[in-house]
Amino acid sequence: MKPIIPDLLYTFTGLIAGRVYAIKDPDGITIIDTGISLAGKRVLKQLVDAGFSAQDVKRIIITHAHPDHVGGLPYLHAQTGAQVISSALEKPVIQGEITIPRRPSGMRPPNTTVKHVPVARTIEDGEVLGDVMGGLQALHTGGHAPGHMAFWQPQHQVLFCGDVIFRMRQKMTLPWAMLTVDMAQNKQSIQKLATFTPKILCFGHGVPITEGATEKLRDFAKQVN
Ligand SMILES: [Zn+2]
Repeated sequence: MKPIIPDLLYTFTGLIAGRVYAIKDPDGITIIDTGISLAGKRVLKQLVDAGFSAQDVKRIIITHAHPDHVGGLPYLHAQTGAQVISSALEKPVIQGEITIPRRPSGMRPPNTTVKHVPVARTIEDGEVLGDVMGGLQALHTGGHAPGHMAFWQPQHQVLFCGDVIFRMRQKMTLPWAMLTVDMAQNKQSIQKLATFTPKILCFGHGVPITEGATEKLRDFAKQVN
């Protein structure tokens, strides 16, 4: 577990695919996304090694229900009993009630249903999770997945992009087309994210940007517009 903002925002190591974040608040820990299935154990071990317990994990926020974001969720939910939070559109996917939405044509992944985990709370665009980081605002940013949510924290100027933008080899990129339901909508979501002024950009894949984040985000949004 490595700090991004000391004593507040952390990320994890050795998860292979899918980045996971932890936020420390007075009442406990909030996790954003859970990586692939092996990540569940690794995330909990790193939290315990850092002095937290499974019961300290109060909330697990899911940006979208892809296997590299909900893979660790069954284990983490079972171990922690944390409240699972997602958009209403992603909820039935996380609960295993419908298959993961796929792009209508072209190369696409096989039809997949994820293992059922109950979503306790759904959030809407603009809604603020008041217990998290002093207020974490949900931003509906569909396209990669229909109910994809990004998150904005205004005091610390942290923007959690989820998979709206990937960061591969130090460069921001579009998410993989094969795994993206509606790329035109995803590009609109990039423009929406570029209206914010982050100091820290956190991605669902890749290392966070902590220098020149707003300028880099706006440059990228112009490139893909
Ligand atoms: Zn994804």
